[in-house]
Amino acid sequence: MRGTNSMSKTQNILIVGGGVAGLAAAIGLHNKGLKVEVVEKNADWSVYHVGIIVQANFIRALEELGLGEAAVAAGFPYKGARFMTMAGDLIAELPGDAQVDGLPSDLGLTRPALHKVLTDKVRELGIPVRLGVTFERFTDTGDGVDVTFTDGTSGRFDLLIGCDGNYSQVRAALWPDARPQFTGQGVWRYNVPRPADLEWSDLYIGKPGGKAGYCPLTETEMYIFAVFEEPGNPRFAPETLAAEMRQRLEGFGGRLGEAAQAITDPALVVYRPLEACIMPDPWYQGRVVLIGDAAHSATPHLGQGAAMAVEDAIVLADELAAKDVDTALRAFMDRRFERAKLVGTSSIQLGEWEMHPETAGDPVALTRRIREKLAEPV
Ligand SMILES: Cc1cc2nc3c(=O)[nH]c(=O)nc-3n(C[C@H](O)[C@H](O)[C@H](O)COP(=O)(O)OP(=O)(O)OC[C@H]3O[C@@H](n4cnc5c(N)ncnc54)[C@H](O)[C@@H]3O)c2cc1C
Repeated sequence: MRGTNSMSKTQNILIVGGGVAGLAAAIGLHNKGLKVEVVEKNADWSVYHVGIIVQANFIRALEELGLGEAAVAAGFPYKGARFMTMAGDLIAELPGDAQVDGLPSDLGLTRPALHKVLTDKVRELGIPVRLGVTFERFTDTGDGVDVTFTDGTSGRFDLLIGCDGNYSQVRAALWPDARPQFTGQGVWRYNVPRPADLEWSDLYIGKPGGKAGYCPLTETEMYIFAVFEEPGNPRFAPETLAAEMRQRLEGFGGRLGEAAQAITDPALVVYRPLEACIMPDPWYQGRVVLIGDAAHSATPHLGQGAAMAVEDAIVLADELAAKDVDTALRAFMDRRFERAKLVGTSSIQLGEWEMHPETAGDPVALTRRIREKLAEPV
């Protein structure tokens, strides 16, 4: 029987968005015995081939979904993060702190590899996913949400979870003034061969405006990233991207300087301006809740976006399985808000320090402090 008042538990849930947060929520809720379905706007359900860096709290969260080993098998475990000078001399090592017995801490993954781990599980569990479909409109009636879909169908749900990412249409429908803001920096990415002895992700700091580095992704690949100030939020002509990225890497030595020579094909450069949106508490209104980037998109400085999305999903599933909707959503916020906000504001802070070195604090100390904080249970 479907819940009909605010004191009942949620039974029938719509997830809008089949990315990291949406798929993790679908798996977590299904595992708790709740009925879920997913709509995903992208008909191909494809993700572009870039790298994603995750840390011990991500592996711990995936382990809760029964996917820790699958994620590790799909990625490349490495030892942790090292900070380097521009010339490539070691400043500090932040070794990973594994939180699941038998599994590593830090992991490089390609985005398609992570997507496959999650979609394989969703298919195995038989969770319904409609591709190329989203909501046209929804109405919260107090005890449920009536949804009309773009494929002409409609449905009634106890809860709608907005997992539709940084440019969330669910957020736009309920919080029209909340929009991602350009932080002043953009991120450049390029995959190159991995030197066989590379076992760390190295961050080279000290160049005004940003930083750069690399991270192993697979046995054979690593990716180079460069986060730099981009005054005026420019758009770049596609054929110029390799030269633009190489220019930002000028002045770096060590392994980064060598690896940068391989950035030659403009079609393989992925450039994104950094746009962040950290929603205030609460991330819900009535029977609609936001999780993942829809609720708190940060910059990639701490490599925590995917982990925060999966942590949101498991905490929400936990609470919804145990409590009535209103109590569960409040309890969800109490467990998630400060933690996600800390990650978001600290990521943005690191970027601010890069753009304004004259007022900068210590990025190594801040990164270490956040890593320690995130090792605490969710
Ligand atoms: C360049 C870049 C590099 C990053 N690097 C890292 C990293 O190294 N480590 C890390 O942890 N995080 C990283 N992140 C952040 C990470 O990708 C996100 O935090 C994470 O994907 C959030 O998951 P999500 O499900 O909330 O959003 P997404 O993964 O963006 O998923 C949103 C999904 O919703 C779908 N959708 C959108 N609108 C609708 C709609 N109206 N209806 C239905 N479906 C819809 C989309 O097609 C997509 O499938 C990076 C992000 C960027 C942009």
